[in-house]
Amino acid sequence: MTRTILHLDMDAYFASIEQKLNPALQGKPVVVVGDLKRRSIVLTASYEARAFGIKTGDLFWNAQKLCPQVIPVISSHHKYSAQTEELVALLEQYSSQVEMTSIDEGYLDVTGSLRLFKTDGEGLARLIQKRIQDELRLPCSVGVAPNKLLAKLASGMKKPMGITVIRPETVQDILAQLPIEKISGIGPHLKASLNQMGIMTCGQLAQAPLKQLEAKFGAIGRWLKACGLGEDDSPVKNAGDEDTPKSIGHSTTLPKDTKDRRVIESFLLLLAEKVGTRLRKAKLLGRTITTTVRFHDFKTISKSHTLQEAVDDGLSVSKAAVRIFDQMHADRPIRLLGVTVSNLADSDGTPYLFESMEKGWQVARAMDAINEKYGKGKIRRAKVLDAEKFGVLESAMPGKK
Ligand SMILES: [Mg+2]
Repeated sequence: MTRTILHLDMDAYFASIEQKLNPALQGKPVVVVGDLKRRSIVLTASYEARAFGIKTGDLFWNAQKLCPQVIPVISSHHKYSAQTEELVALLEQYSSQVEMTSIDEGYLDVTGSLRLFKTDGEGLARLIQKRIQDELRLPCSVGVAPNKLLAKLASGMKKPMGITVIRPETVQDILAQLPIEKISGIGPHLKASLNQMGIMTCGQLAQAPLKQLEAKFGAIGRWLKACGLGEDDSPVKNAGDEDTPKSIGHSTTLPKDTKDRRVIESFLLLLAEKVGTRLRKAKLLGRTITTTVRFHDFKTISKSHTLQEAVDDGLSVSKAAVRIFDQMHADRPIRLLGVTVSNLADSDGTPYLFESMEKGWQVARAMDAINEKYGKGKIRRAKVLDAEKFGVLESAMPGKK
């Protein structure tokens, strides 16, 4: 059955909220910044500020050079998350499947809602956009498509206050000339490697033989091919499912089997960071850490350890995960790694009791704030780069599989 997925992306979110709350800022070039230091970074620029060439990620000092009358506003995260809670409450009137992927964007599977609202995907997108404008007084752009990959692509095509529909019959035409880096998840490393193979557009990616992509990129070869074809069957996660999880975990198939402890450690950190981000988002702390290892012959083992104190930061989780891994004495090539945290309890948002852990707590929150603004994974611990290099560059060497 053809699904109808909406991707909703708030326009200049933090700046729009500040402008809505303070009429003096409306119609003015506004930048939201962490503080007023010269080297502070622009977290969001209002569309009036963008007209001067100011972009997210610019130094505040540069923004002032581009537009001397720019008005800086210090960001206040609690204000923005409170706004997002209102937004989610509104969205949940249109679907039970609302998956927020950051503070200002998310997916809705509205396949089952269309009949109820007697409209099509585009009609529902208009309705939702209008309600957000009328009731929350905020602008947003919406992409409408048969899957998440295309819906996300669509929402970025027209901003602000855009509605873009990608219909199944137009997918091929749209993707034919589309540069691969427009696909969410194809970053600079992947782009460079694909470009080296002569693959510049999604159309070319779609035509690349799967075998060739798998030989070069390992496990993500299949995903890349699907990107080129505009195919994505990943579900929009039901918000209700995540209310009271018993455990939070992530696993990944390695780009190729390995025994290299350095690589394994960095993948465990990568997974632990993902788990940590989700724990903090769900305001949960966990005490039991489980490491899962699947060998090249698919034999799978898991081992757990319960910590003295509950944690929610990737570094603490990864330290435990690596310790557990070492106790497994796994000396055969590994194909898959997983990290799970269970034994969960609500966190009240206060730092850990142990001073030794407080640094991890602070770093984790700083990383959340930046990743939420710039997109997932913009800031990572340096060690994670080992995993990335292994995933993209090493497996990209010809003849290595
Ligand atoms: Mg946005």
